Amino acid sequence: MRDYENLIGGTWQPPSGGAWLPVIDPGDGSVFARLARGGEADIDAAVSAARVALDGAWGRLDAAERGRLLQRLGAAILEDFESLAALESRDAGKPKSQGAADIRACARYFEFYGAAADKVHGDTIPFSEGFTALTLREPHGVTGHIIPWNYPAQIIGRSLAAALAMGNAAVVKPAEDACLSVLRIAELAAEVGFPPGAINIVTGIGAEAGAALAAHRGIDHISFTGSPETGSQVAQAAARRLCPVTLELGGKSPQIVFADADLDAALSMAVKAIVQNAGQTCSAGSRLLVQAPIKDQVLERLCDDFAALQAGPWDADLDCGPLINKAQHERVQGFLGRAADAGYKPLARGRIAANAPQGGYYAAPCLFDAVPLDHELAQQEVFGPVLAAFSFEDEAEAIRMANATDFGLVAGVWTSDGGRQMRLARALDCGQVFINNYGAGGGVELPFGGVKHSGYGREKGFEALYGFSRTKTVAIKHG
Ligand code: NAD
Repeated sequence: MRDYENLIGGTWQPPSGGAWLPVIDPGDGSVFARLARGGEADIDAAVSAARVALDGAWGRLDAAERGRLLQRLGAAILEDFESLAALESRDAGKPKSQGAADIRACARYFEFYGAAADKVHGDTIPFSEGFTALTLREPHGVTGHIIPWNYPAQIIGRSLAAALAMGNAAVVKPAEDACLSVLRIAELAAEVGFPPGAINIVTGIGAEAGAALAAHRGIDHISFTGSPETGSQVAQAAARRLCPVTLELGGKSPQIVFADADLDAALSMAVKAIVQNAGQTCSAGSRLLVQAPIKDQVLERLCDDFAALQAGPWDADLDCGPLINKAQHERVQGFLGRAADAGYKPLARGRIAANAPQGGYYAAPCLFDAVPLDHELAQQEVFGPVLAAFSFEDEAEAIRMANATDFGLVAGVWTSDGGRQMRLARALDCGQVFINNYGAGGGVELPFGGVKHSGYGREKGFEALYGFSRTKTVAIKHG
């Protein structure tokens, strides 16, 4: 059984405390590797190594050289594509095609930010007579990255590539439940020539390694992706030392289908947006708002679609893989059990494939109708393949319902009315609005992030490069 160590200052090191965590295959519950259980001392060593890199070989590289390295890493990820995709699928319980899509997206982040590294610059500012005023764009310094288990490869690509492009040195704390792709990508980074210490990875439990990273005085910026509860703890720890934070948190995102929509497109996306990654996606379309005159027709079609869905092992490449772990499985079953106790039964349910191993954490996709708007299935992030459908009469009601949760990450609008498309794009309280599509295929170029409990700050696109850097103003008086 392989032991995965921490990467600190360019060398793989066992955890300083000598403790290890089991790596569990969510598809059958078996343990197939061990992971370093890093703690405060490992985080401290990683932060020091990042500082040394920043003051040394990594910090001396100019933007074009950093960009070249990032692009080389993107190419190396694609060269290692088959094995990385299989690793990601098994470790995180993703259907084969989803693991493959995630590795492609990860490579694309390194390609995009590699190409952008030397294209972000300051301004010269028209100012008083006798002055020249300009801005410099500088890295924060050592950036901390706390990563969740649901899309380890995509999120490491999204966060790390942008931070490195701007010249930061990074300390990454991936999730204990799935992070093997992150470790492999760090290995590839060393192979393509990243200087030691530019990228450091410390694995471990959130309350130990994660909390140590959030509280570390040597960290100059933290990017956190995960649950709102942990995000709030990380922000509080960072606030104690006034460290800037980007929070990418959860969602309860609506898909809004008007009677004039292209129903074939809308409904196939409505299903995909909740079963992708077994619903364990921050931007899962977990609420379906349908205009009243077409609701019966829509539900009838969706019942057929849901009845045909299957969850099974990653290599069977079905609609859903397993949920990530026992706790997540119990959480999803808890939502379903409480709904049943309150008299709400699924309108349709998919099934768990006959060949799914007994010890795996599988959940059959479910469609609910007519739960009250204040019910937890209408308000809380289930993080499982559970879709709740509602109906609305008109545009105003659709907007009110869409905005009526604590979250505000993403929304989908399906209508052929151009005026309505723009009115909804403006009225929806969230970070991304998709019109007649959902997710735009991942869109590395498109700024992403939330409002309300979905977080603050933006990653992806050029906005991430501004987030991972700071502006310094220089005013020169020359007479
Ligand atoms: P989580 O908050 O439990 O864990 C996220 C990361 O934080 C993990 O690495 C974990 O080890 C670490 N962590 C846990 N406790 C910590 C602490 N006290 N201090 C510092 N770090 C700590 O979230 P999760 O269950 O891994 O992920 C699911 C959540 O993430 C969902 O709410 C989902 O919507 C959200 N998410 C958001 C995005 C986005 O971009 N908006 C993307 C993916 C997931």
